[in-house]
Amino acid sequence: MDLRYSRSDERFRAEVRAWLADAVPSLPPKPGPHDWDARRRYDTTWQKMLHEAGYAGINWPAEFGGRGASPTEHLIFLEENERAGAPYVGVNFVGLLHAGPTLIAEGTAEQKARHLPKILSGDEVWCQGFSEPGAGSDLAALQTRAVRDGDHYVVNGQKIWTSFAHVADFGELLVRTDPSAPKHKGISWLILPMDTPGIEVRPLRTIAGSSEFSEVFFTDVRIPVENLVGKENDGWRVAMVTFSFERGTAFVSELLHSMKLVESLAELARKIPRNGGTVWDDAGVRRELGHMAAELDGLWHLTKRTITEAERTGVPGIGGSVFKLAYSEVRHKLGDLAMRILGTDALSTEDGTTAADHVRGWIHAMSISIAAGTTQIQRNILSERVLGMPKEPK
Ligand SMILES: Cc1cc2nc3c(=O)[nH]c(=O)nc-3n(C[C@H](O)[C@H](O)[C@H](O)COP(=O)(O)OP(=O)(O)OC[C@H]3O[C@@H](n4cnc5c(N)ncnc54)[C@H](O)[C@@H]3O)c2cc1C
Repeated sequence: MDLRYSRSDERFRAEVRAWLADAVPSLPPKPGPHDWDARRRYDTTWQKMLHEAGYAGINWPAEFGGRGASPTEHLIFLEENERAGAPYVGVNFVGLLHAGPTLIAEGTAEQKARHLPKILSGDEVWCQGFSEPGAGSDLAALQTRAVRDGDHYVVNGQKIWTSFAHVADFGELLVRTDPSAPKHKGISWLILPMDTPGIEVRPLRTIAGSSEFSEVFFTDVRIPVENLVGKENDGWRVAMVTFSFERGTAFVSELLHSMKLVESLAELARKIPRNGGTVWDDAGVRRELGHMAAELDGLWHLTKRTITEAERTGVPGIGGSVFKLAYSEVRHKLGDLAMRILGTDALSTEDGTTAADHVRGWIHAMSISIAAGTTQIQRNILSERVLGMPKEPK
């Protein structure tokens, strides 16, 4: 891996920067957080613009309609997006960041041809139906049942915490196809068309006021057998492929955004009055901000390594779990530091203020250490798979 930028990388950066400078201001105003039709329209409009300009699926192989960019170009693209304040994947995140890549790695030729072009063009929005009320960390305990009936599976059960289910066209669905097998061996991964009769989506509201999650209920939902990804009862292995993408690269933009937040915090610290001067006069605060910047920089380099590895093997490795764990912890520390720097300013969460961004970021940090496998689960994975420690008792 060569971490320096070549002349052609810099040319690519200039090209992306110039395109973003025109494209970002041409977007309509960002819709309100609860106007879901408008949010879907806004995010998919941006995706279409990327697609028309040849930037959709920047890191997807060219044979599947992506740009086939090198790992370095991929990172430059993300850096420039963040720099330009461009929207990130939004409602398209499952499709672009892990359902599409899972289909590339595991799907049949028909599944790839059917879904990949539409994910890239913003015509298909996906969600992830993995978690259940009794199966989050212990995902293999899932109970949603699929019974084969001719050339269909008939699905009954319930999913929860399904982000963007209410605006999705398709879902990644994990179901139990063999209840008599050991729990990891009786699971299958299905492509779920969200308009199939028998699906009921019930939106949830979180403590932070957001409304992107839903519960999804299934009553005799008939899914064609051709929607099986991988083999029947081999869904756990396919789900691990999905997770490797979800943990491996899906948080990269988050990281870039956090780097920006550290800069904005340093600026705020110089302005907020405290003890007759400003917060910046406190050497402890300056040291903490420096540490934070260094930790995020370290994670940026780990990201480069993970992305390079993914390019070589087609699937990100265990580095994704290392990143996810370390990033969640840094993000918590950054949120706590922001609260200390803001002091009473943190009481204002009025939209549009810098303080509000930090307060929302602090609340958001709590969800990062839960989403895509909790911090404790990442520790279990790393101790078992990297350090070779004994497995958890069943
Ligand atoms: C922002 C966000 C988006 C999400 N989006 C989706 C989505 O789109 N689709 C989807 O399917 N799910 C989604 N989820 C759900 C997420 O995958 C689960 O919340 C997560 O896996 C944890 O499961 P749980 O909530 O049931 O917690 P539990 O599994 O009940 O865990 C509770 C606590 O116990 C700890 N714990 C559990 N087991 C162990 C163990 N073996 N060792 C040590 N500690 C343990 C956990 O770390 C946690 O602290 C999302 C969650 C969040 C926060």
